[in-house]
Amino acid sequence: MHVCAVCNGLRLLDARCLTCSAIAEDNGKASDWMGPYAPYEPIEVEYAANQQEAVASCRHVAYCPYCVNTFEVAVTEEMD
Ligand SMILES: [Zn+2]
Ligand SMILES: [Zn+2]
Repeated sequence: MHVCAVCNGLRLLDARCLTCSAIAEDNGKASDWMGPYAPYEPIEVEYAANQQEAVASCRHVAYCPYCVNTFEVAVTEEMD
């Protein structure tokens, strides 16, 4: 079964800001932001250019504290 190592706390989100290349923070799964009762303001999400839908992936929202920028990162799920 495929699992997302980031969701399971096995490793940190390895994402870098598209603008300044700083290490971005994991703000959780992107799907958590889409719910009707999302506790966050709507955000502008930039999709990664090389997203491949064929590969099992877990989408996370990454946040750069320097640019105050949020963007979506596809984490490739690994075999358990
Ligand atoms: Zn995940
Ligand atoms: Zn940045």
